[in-house]
Amino acid sequence: MLPREALDSTFDLLRKHHEWFKNALPLIASENVTSPAVREAMTSDFQHRYAEGWPGERVYAGCRYIDKVEFLAMDLAKELFKAEHANVQPVSGVVANLAMYTALTKPGDTIMCLAIPCRGHISMGKEKFGGTAGAVHGLKVEYWPFDEKKMNIDVDAAAKKIKEVKPKLALFGGSVFLFPHPTKELSEVARDIGAYVAYDAAHVSGLIAGGQFQDPLREGVDVMTCSTHKTLPGPQHGMILCKKKLADAINKAVFPGVVSNHHLHAVAALAVVLAEMLEFGKEYTSQIVKNAKALGQALHDRGFSVLCPDQGFTCSHTIVVDVTKHGDGGTLEQKLEQANIILNRNLLPWDIKEGRHYKNPGGIRLGTSEVTRLGMKEKEMEEIAEFIKRVVGGEESLDRIAAEVSEFRQSYQQVQYCFDSAVQAYEYLKIH
Ligand SMILES: *Cc1c(COP(=O)(O)O)cnc(C)c1O
Repeated sequence: MLPREALDSTFDLLRKHHEWFKNALPLIASENVTSPAVREAMTSDFQHRYAEGWPGERVYAGCRYIDKVEFLAMDLAKELFKAEHANVQPVSGVVANLAMYTALTKPGDTIMCLAIPCRGHISMGKEKFGGTAGAVHGLKVEYWPFDEKKMNIDVDAAAKKIKEVKPKLALFGGSVFLFPHPTKELSEVARDIGAYVAYDAAHVSGLIAGGQFQDPLREGVDVMTCSTHKTLPGPQHGMILCKKKLADAINKAVFPGVVSNHHLHAVAALAVVLAEMLEFGKEYTSQIVKNAKALGQALHDRGFSVLCPDQGFTCSHTIVVDVTKHGDGGTLEQKLEQANIILNRNLLPWDIKEGRHYKNPGGIRLGTSEVTRLGMKEKEMEEIAEFIKRVVGGEESLDRIAAEVSEFRQSYQQVQYCFDSAVQAYEYLKIH
């Protein structure tokens, strides 16, 4: 392929992707769509610059405006999360976790966190699984006892285990986060044995900002790490919020520890989304949670085994469905994708014991952050559930369902809960 053709095909593929997402139902729990204002900040000249170090004390010249924007982002983050200190430099949630490990622990120390099948994140994984905690920072990993029925940490067993294991760090949070973790109860136990308490809010930072989940920083948590692009509808980036007494340790762990360039365009875009969340966050995130509960109910009513029916399915943006009576999560994920419904297969906590594995697990995971951002409400969740039922039913052609999904999507093309929406959500912006 000639270079010019390669360039043209890259743009051709990008346009096709945009076109597809205009016509699809985006239900991946870890994703969202940004406002046009966030997209504009992402294309600014900041993306070409370096600014190592703390604003005002940079290693590079040319940071006159970059410094002001970074201070703005930090101030907005502190205001939104009522945090004593914010560091907006980590380039992703994993990098935020690695900085947090670096600040609070030494290699060889023990951490307690969720196991991967209970949807701990790879950044919490053991050395033998190549996880960041074990393989990169050399931590020993012990798992929270998990109540599979309640899909939450078992408080009594966990309190006992903290006293036995004496971890250096107790870490809450995970990638399937249906209900608030018992941070209040267990922080006290952890503090009694001298452990730090951290909370990985990658998935739920937006819900926390909107006051719809739990409030970790007021429940005994020392450090909260975030991705900024899941329920918080910002750029792909990371952020750390913490108590003032840990600010220096966190800052040093981030730079020079784990970032050189910290993606300044993303910092600017983060300032934009934090401002949007201060204005619209409560309304947006309360609708996300209402939609997740409604989607859980609508699927339950159609015969699906949505987890935790007796707890209202979820208190977050996520629901999990056990699909073993319809096949496996991997096959279903692919069929749904052919019908323009985009979600993930998901390992259920008991899958490994029952001989299922990551490629063909027993579950699927659905998130409502992005469809809510497009303006959908409870009524639309019924329609989504009906589309999913038709795909699982297997009697109609997937192409036909895809065409109907696309038609349904036409009324939801604008990003809501933001100041300006001058272009459509998935509009392709040509500047070359
Ligand atoms: C998504 C996720 C992360 C990290 O995400 P990045 O892609 O690095 O931003 C960390 N922890 C949990 C629990 C997650 O779900």
